[in-house]
Amino acid sequence: MAKEFETSTLGVRAGQARTGFNEHSEALFLTSSFVFESAAQAAASFAGGEGGKEYVYSRFTNPTVTMFQDRLAALEGAEACVSTASGMSAIMATAMALLKSGDHIVCSNAVFGATVQLFGGIFSKYGVQTTFVSNAASEWEKALRPTTRLLFLETPSNPLTEICDISALAAVAKRAGALLVVDNAFCTPALQKPLALGADLVVHSATKHLDGQGRVLGGAVLGPAKIVREQIFPFLRTAGPALSPFNAWVILKGLETLELRVRAQSAAALELAHWLEGHPAVARVHYPGLVSHPSTRWRRASRRPGAPSCPSK
Ligand SMILES: *Cc1c(COP(=O)(O)O)cnc(C)c1O
Repeated sequence: MAKEFETSTLGVRAGQARTGFNEHSEALFLTSSFVFESAAQAAASFAGGEGGKEYVYSRFTNPTVTMFQDRLAALEGAEACVSTASGMSAIMATAMALLKSGDHIVCSNAVFGATVQLFGGIFSKYGVQTTFVSNAASEWEKALRPTTRLLFLETPSNPLTEICDISALAAVAKRAGALLVVDNAFCTPALQKPLALGADLVVHSATKHLDGQGRVLGGAVLGPAKIVREQIFPFLRTAGPALSPFNAWVILKGLETLELRVRAQSAAALELAHWLEGHPAVARVHYPGLVSHPSTRWRRASRRPGAPSCPSK
């Protein structure tokens, strides 16, 4: 479905899984767990083995949560998606599942404040070191170590809208044998698909534009099934920062209007940025669509056909 339809259609239709009642709107499965035909089936289900049922316990998975995951995967063009209780738990789970003591992260210094605290503070306690760098690819190259496993960036960054070149940094990650993880909360797949630009994984805070109406927290990790299903999901299943089915349902409703909202917000933001830039009481405006934005120079220098476009036009 992802290949045949536009983002706005996928936001409404992808991932729908109807029950026998043939409901029009996605069903909300507000249940902690599921029932089994026998003790043997329950045992097999909890063990995740053959003869087990798909839905066992909502810390593992839940039909409403699956619909959200499948819809977001279609929007990002990802093979697999796992959801989490918040954006921070998506980032935490990615690092916890993929790294071990002694490993090293290179991270953009223009990332969400809690991400800086998580990598720079909490993870250093467990022997995972992080080097923070500016958005120039040469700095990322210099920061690489033999133990570098993850490159992490956010573009545009929240809140100062700094821009990184995803394709250039994907090439750096590839040469280093590391994975490039992109936090796509700001643009959302309505404006930017990091996997198509060479990123290995995308993380989301669904709390922001995916819900879009300030109601619930949520998060997600997307990418190849080999990493997302086989490495990150087993961590989440056990550690437990699961997305509530209620929140998944709310965010599913948010995805229906994602493209309309994000495009309208971008147009309004550009208009406001122009107005603020001409205002005598305003010292500085951070918006990547303005020629005064420091990243504009970078973008002009590196523009090529099919180059990444952020809400700048
Ligand atoms: C809000 C945000 C996060 C953290 O998400 P929560 O859902 O608040 O945990 C991570 N990255 C970015 C870019 C954000 O804006």
